[in-house]
This record gives sequence, structure tokens and C-alpha cells, in this order.
Amino acid sequence: MAAAVDNLNLSVNDYRLLKYMEADSVCTKRLLELRRQFGFSGKVRILLFDELTSFSLSLGHSVPFWVIGAYRGNHIYLLDEACWKEREQGPLSRILLHEFVHILMHYRTGGLCPLWLNEGMALYLSGQCEVFGKLKRSFEGEIYECSYETDGFYQVCGAAVAKLFEQYGSVKIMAKLCRNIDFAADEILGKKNMRRIL
Ligand SMILES: [Zn+2]
Repeated sequence: MAAAVDNLNLSVNDYRLLKYMEADSVCTKRLLELRRQFGFSGKVRILLFDELTSFSLSLGHSVPFWVIGAYRGNHIYLLDEACWKEREQGPLSRILLHEFVHILMHYRTGGLCPLWLNEGMALYLSGQCEVFGKLKRSFEGEIYECSYETDGFYQVCGAAVAKLFEQYGSVKIMAKLCRNIDFAADEILGKKNMRRIL
């Protein structure tokens, strides 16, 4: 397994992480695919914590009680499954993939990507949309104004990106992810089209 992780260009602070990845056959395959799709070869360090205080200290700022994963630079911070198993968030390996997608999105868009797209891509590409089961298929508000406080925020973002992939395909959507794009004005990802398809 250590060799497999070497191929993925990951380093870990805790060997339980290898077990979590090994238990999810999709995880390592998806990590490699995502690296290829985003053209990202950088090393990523994954850190596992047993409680939120040391998680926050290492991350460098406090986080809301519901947070189980985060990223900063090329580091992924994860809270061990034992702390949140009953919350029905799916396996930890998918949280790892979710945070990995955030790193890739940051790499491609220089951090200029709107919040809904960043979260929606992380949910969709990590396979978490299935974990949530029924996604919110319609949304009345302005997706560009959504925040973590928006009711059903993650479901809305996941559904929006799922619809984009269904309607336009991954090649077209992936090509849009770059730092030069004006997201809000874009013909596909922009406000007008998102109001139409949601
Ligand atoms: Zn996220």
C-alpha cells in the first residue's frame, strides 16, 4: 500500500489513512484520474486527527463543530470517522477525495472559483452526491449568493454541478475551469444559465 500511495504522490501522518483508502476501491483510482484530468502532479500531505481541537490548531484557525475535513495549500486535514460516524457522511475516503478536489480547483482557478462551484465539484467528483441520496433538484435563489448558511447548501451545489455534467459533459465543464474566466458572466457557468437550469 505504501507503494500505491507513492504513485499517488501523497504523504500521510497516520497509517489508518491507508486502511481507509484501501477499503474504498474507488478512492485511489479516482485520485489518479482526478490528477490526470486537472493536470496536477504536486505532492499532497494528508493529516488525520482524533478530535477537532488539534485539527483546528494544525489548520491554523477554528472551524464550526460540523466540519470533518478541510484543506490549506497542499495539505488535507481530516477528522477520524470515529468522531462523526453517526452523521451519515459516507466513508472518510470520500471526504479525502472531496478535499483533494478543492486543492485541484484552487490549482486550476487560482482560488477565484465561486463557492457553489467549488463545493459542487468537490461533492460531484468525490462521488458524494450519491451519499446524499436525493439532491435538491430545484432552487429558487441566486446560486452565486449561496453560502454555508444557505438552507440545503451542499445539496444545491451538488445538484447544480450534477446538472452541468449531465447537460454539457465533463470535457466542456473541465475546460471552463481556469483562472481567466469570468464565472458569473460565463454562458454556461454564469448566473443567467444557472438560473435557467436549476
Ligand atoms: Zn468542501
